[in-house]
Amino acid sequence: MTRMTSSARPLLSRRLAEFGTTIFAEMSALALSTGAINLGQGFPDTDGPEEVREAAVRALRDGLGNQYPPGPGVPELRTAVAAHQQRRYGLSCDPDGEVLVTAGATEAIAASLLALVEPGDEVIALEPYYDSYAACIAMAGGRRVPVTLRPHEGSFRLDLDELRDAVTDRTRLLLINTPHNPTGTVLTRAELAAIAELAVERDLLVVTDEVYEHLVFDEAEHVPLATFPGMRERTVTIGSAGKTFSFTGWKVGWVTGAPDLVAAVRSAKQFLTYVASGPFQYAVAEALCLPDSYFADLRADMLAKRDLLAGGLERAGFKVFRPAGTYFITTDIRPLGESDGFTFCRALPERCGVVAIPNAVFYDHREQGAPFVRFAFCKRTGVLEEATSRLKTLAA
Ligand SMILES: *Cc1c(COP(=O)(O)O)cnc(C)c1O
Repeated sequence: MTRMTSSARPLLSRRLAEFGTTIFAEMSALALSTGAINLGQGFPDTDGPEEVREAAVRALRDGLGNQYPPGPGVPELRTAVAAHQQRRYGLSCDPDGEVLVTAGATEAIAASLLALVEPGDEVIALEPYYDSYAACIAMAGGRRVPVTLRPHEGSFRLDLDELRDAVTDRTRLLLINTPHNPTGTVLTRAELAAIAELAVERDLLVVTDEVYEHLVFDEAEHVPLATFPGMRERTVTIGSAGKTFSFTGWKVGWVTGAPDLVAAVRSAKQFLTYVASGPFQYAVAEALCLPDSYFADLRADMLAKRDLLAGGLERAGFKVFRPAGTYFITTDIRPLGESDGFTFCRALPERCGVVAIPNAVFYDHREQGAPFVRFAFCKRTGVLEEATSRLKTLAA
C-alpha cells in the first residue's frame, strides 16, 4: 500500500517513486525464510586478507581515522590509489587533486551524477544496469537513455551503432561499466576505443565504473577508458576496495580524474557523507600495495568458482553466458521451459533451495531481460557445490 499524506500526496517523491524497494531485500528475505543458499546478492562469504583486517585493527588502536579524516581522503590512501593506477595502467594521477576517496563506489556514482548532470540532461547507460545508476540519474534530475547489451554468441555485446545513435544534443554523459554487472561482459579494447572516439567527437563526459577491474578471466583484459586519447580530461574513473579485497562492508571507494572533474565530484560528495570509513582508509591503502600475487590468486580463485558454478548451471539445464569478468553469471532459463525470470526466481527457493536474481530488474525494457537470471559465485567452494547439486534437480 502506498501511504498518502493528508493532501493525498504520495510520501515518496516522484523522482524516486519507481525505486521503492529493491529486489535484493525481497530475495534475501526469501532466502532466510526458506533456508535457501543465497546466490542473489553479490558479496563474498569469506573476508579478505588477514593482514588487511589487521591493518584496520591497528589503525583503530593507533587512533588513525577515528575522527573525521580529510575531505578528499587520507593522504596514505590517495597516494596508494595513484600508485595503483600508475603501476597497473600507466595512468599518472596526482594524489592531491586527482584522487577523491568516497563511501564506496555507490557514493562515487551518486556524487558524480549529482555534480555533473543538470536537470533534463540525458545520461546514456549500458542496459542491463547496476540498480543505483537509474536511481542516481533520477536524483540528479537527468533522463536515462539505455543502450541494451544483447546476447550474441555466448556473451552480451554492445552495439556501437546503437550507442552512436543514442547520442543527441541533450546528451551530457556516458555512464559505462566494465567489467559489467550483471552480464559479465568485459568491453574490448576496440569497443572502448570506439566509445572514446564518440565521447571526444560529441564532447561528452564519461563516468566509468570499474569496480571489477581485478576480476577478469581467460583472455579478457581490463583497460581503463581513461587511457584512451582525449579521455583523461573528460573521464571520471570509479574504483572500490569492496570487490577487490572482499571487504564490501567497509565502503571504501575512490574517484580518479582530471582536477576540475574531481573537484566537481567533491563538491557533491562533501554534502553526502562528507567523509567515511576513517580507519578502513588506512587499511585499504595497505591492501592496494599488496604484491601482484594477491591479485593473481584472487583471479585464479574466482575463475575456479566461475567454472564450478557455470558447469553446475549447464548440467541443470540453463544456457550459461560464461562471464569474462565480475563474479556473476547470467543465464537464460528458456531451455528449462521457463520464460519469466521473476516467476522463476520467486519459485526457485521452494523448488530447490537456491536464490537468484531476475535480470529484468536491471532493465528499463523489462521484456528484454525477462528470460535472464543472475547467480553470484563469490561464495565458498562447498557452498557452490551444494548449490549445484540442488540445482541439478531442475534437470530431472
Ligand atoms: C558492488 C558494485 C558497486 C558498489 O560498490 P561499493 O564500493 O560497495 O559501494 C558499484 N558498481 C557496481 C557495478 C557494483 O557491482
